[in-house]
Amino acid sequence: MGATTEKSVFPEKISPFLKEKMAALCAGGGAASADYRALYLQYVKQAAEDAVALEDNERHWEANVDVEMDGHRVKGVERLYRHSLVIEPTLVCASHCRYCLRAHYGMFTLSEDELKQAALFCGSKLVRDELREVLITGGDPLILPQRLGYLVDALMKYAPNVKTMRIATRLLSHDPRRIDNNIFEIFKHKPGIRFELATQINHPVELFPETIEKIVDISALGVKIYSQNVLLKGVNDDVETLAALYDRLRELHVEAHYLFHCLPMKGMHHLRPSLGKGIELVKRLLNSGRISGRIKPMFAAMTDIGKITLYEGTVLARKDNKVLLQSHYSYADRLRWNPNWKLPKTAAVDENGLLRMWYLDGSDDAASSREIPHA
Ligand code: SF4
Repeated sequence: MGATTEKSVFPEKISPFLKEKMAALCAGGGAASADYRALYLQYVKQAAEDAVALEDNERHWEANVDVEMDGHRVKGVERLYRHSLVIEPTLVCASHCRYCLRAHYGMFTLSEDELKQAALFCGSKLVRDELREVLITGGDPLILPQRLGYLVDALMKYAPNVKTMRIATRLLSHDPRRIDNNIFEIFKHKPGIRFELATQINHPVELFPETIEKIVDISALGVKIYSQNVLLKGVNDDVETLAALYDRLRELHVEAHYLFHCLPMKGMHHLRPSLGKGIELVKRLLNSGRISGRIKPMFAAMTDIGKITLYEGTVLARKDNKVLLQSHYSYADRLRWNPNWKLPKTAAVDENGLLRMWYLDGSDDAASSREIPHA
């Protein structure tokens, strides 16, 4: 990885709902308050994004995860794992999270015909014996309920092997007022399908009253909601904030999933604590009786070879600012599930045929992003 000086190309986009909330928090607690800062750092574009840094990935996987059918790429579909694959109906979102893994992707929205091709692929002989679930993500698929409904129906028609549909959205905190009957209808009358809603609540302040109302409405439809969060410097990188967050999620019947280390992508250096700090925080959170054992997140890094949960012994070595992470992904399996997959430059295959990779660590320097203007 080399240094870069390229300016951030990810435009700032903040929904009217979030703008209202930020203005109210600033007027109430002030610009220096933790609650205001938690939103500011997630959504307001900062000069630090353009600073020279070693973080220079442009894609969250620096490897090919696209799939093909009949010699053609199936647009909007990615596969890394056996049971599941990813479908992205659109890359449009209500707001732009500054640390987004799609920050450097071109915008697109799949047509109905392209969504049908994705569903046909899911039910094709290439994958149907093993594929059991899809993660429908983006972008934010709830932004376009009509397209999402079309995709769900197409999957039920052409890929009956898919029994679980996970739908990723931040609309619950970006703009819950847009979650209406058009979205509720998608989850109704779909016998045999388990729907899960994957959201991302990084700080307790994001559980606005309007957000809670929609969490309750969606849960009442039998949809399981879970939250996968990102550990962000200055937003939630302390035990008290994380404990309050997971306590509140548990009260709302929202399950915890991953707590991700922030990706080593362009413009994100200022938001990335070190892995060591993350592991220490998680140990203090999980092994201290501070939160219920029923809502323990898994601390994980999203690497070029897939997600690696950071258990004791996962970090094999350290060189400069990189760490060698051991996975239990088999190289042979990976090629079987996706013949197009190429071993990324950062990765190697160990003597057991398992993948390991060099991952760029974050830092605990004081240069975290505190460019918050005084009110
Ligand atoms: S909602 Fe998700 S896809 Fe959209 S900008 Fe935020 S992190 Fe990225």
